[in-house]
Amino acid sequence: MGFKSKARRAKEADGTSSTKKRRGRDLEDGEKPCAVKGCDNWADKSHGGRSIAFDNLADVWDEDDLVGEGRRLAICKPCYRHYKKEKKEDESQTW
Ligand SMILES: [Zn+2]
Repeated sequence: MGFKSKARRAKEADGTSSTKKRRGRDLEDGEKPCAVKGCDNWADKSHGGRSIAFDNLADVWDEDDLVGEGRRLAICKPCYRHYKKEKKEDESQTW
């Protein structure tokens, strides 16, 4: 007598379809936050951000005010404008 008890579990907890996607590719949200501390803008290229060498940024901001890794940090558009302005005044001194 072969009696097979089929332990069927039709209702197995398979993938709950409510997985939150954190990596949305929306344009509204960037991926790179601005490297300037306290600034919560996005520094993505699509947001007008720029990648600036750390040394240059350190001329304008305090190093403690810069967040990020690497030699280049991404800053947002408003910060870049500020940076450019500061740099311009710097250059006007003509060494
Ligand atoms: Zn910024």
